[in-house]
Amino acid sequence: MRLSELIACGGCTEVWTGSSAAHCAAADCHRTFSGPSAFDLHQPGECRHPADVGLVPRERSWGTAWGWSDRNGGILAGRLAGDLT
Ligand SMILES: [Zn+2]
Ligand SMILES: [Zn+2]
Repeated sequence: MRLSELIACGGCTEVWTGSSAAHCAAADCHRTFSGPSAFDLHQPGECRHPADVGLVPRERSWGTAWGWSDRNGGILAGRLAGDLT
């Protein structure tokens, strides 16, 4: 992976990659999600802990991304929604 493919947050040290990944830039949050639909679960208006809304952390080469689990519709649901899985 080239460094130029990494995306960085201006408010923390997290980096991630993948055009559909989403990062929450709220103060005290700064978590990275596998995509917009996972992010929507996390933040219906205010930040919820990802585990409380059924998301699971996945280790990636560039860090941790919270994504769909089989508990809340499965990896397929996230994939259909356009998230990284
Ligand atoms: Zn951040
Ligand atoms: Zn958040």
